[in-house]
Amino acid sequence: MIEKTGVAPKDLFMQEFPADSDVLNDPKAIIECYKEIPCNPCETSCPFDAIHIGEDINKRPQIDFNACTGCGICVYNCPGLAISVRHLKGDKAVLKIPFEFTPRPAKDSMVNVVDRGGVVITTGKVIKVQDGKNQKQTALLHIEIDRDYIYDAITIEVPHGS
Ligand code: SF4
Ligand code: SF4
Repeated sequence: MIEKTGVAPKDLFMQEFPADSDVLNDPKAIIECYKEIPCNPCETSCPFDAIHIGEDINKRPQIDFNACTGCGICVYNCPGLAISVRHLKGDKAVLKIPFEFTPRPAKDSMVNVVDRGGVVITTGKVIKVQDGKNQKQTALLHIEIDRDYIYDAITIEVPHGS
């Protein structure tokens, strides 16, 4: 399916999440990088040595959820926008996602949240808009959504005017 549509099916993307959902009680990076490509900024940018590709730069990145702090640095640095940080908080979930359009949605604004197929599945609240130290073109949006959508939400619908 991913070869034809570019959309990862659920059985594939669920493999990128921790098997124990309690792990997501702390923020963790979820890497959806399915192809073997010569790329490794996720590995080299992580200050906690939580992402491993190794000698062969074509290998897919592997994450060590024990080492990941959910800081989001790899999210800014991934040129493929293939990483998000996800966190369960009570009846909510918080996503940290990359966003490269301007203007950026304002803090406290409501946005439409879409799944991997681009279908709007819920609304979310922008609780923080964060700039990276070295990567000013990519913002890290912190989006609060209902926890039921933690696996399916991938990004937001680009607001009109962006
Ligand atoms: S979120 Fe931070 S700690 Fe986790 S893999 Fe990315 S850079 Fe490393
Ligand atoms: S930086 Fe992004 S695109 Fe490159 S290997 Fe890492 S996750 Fe994949």
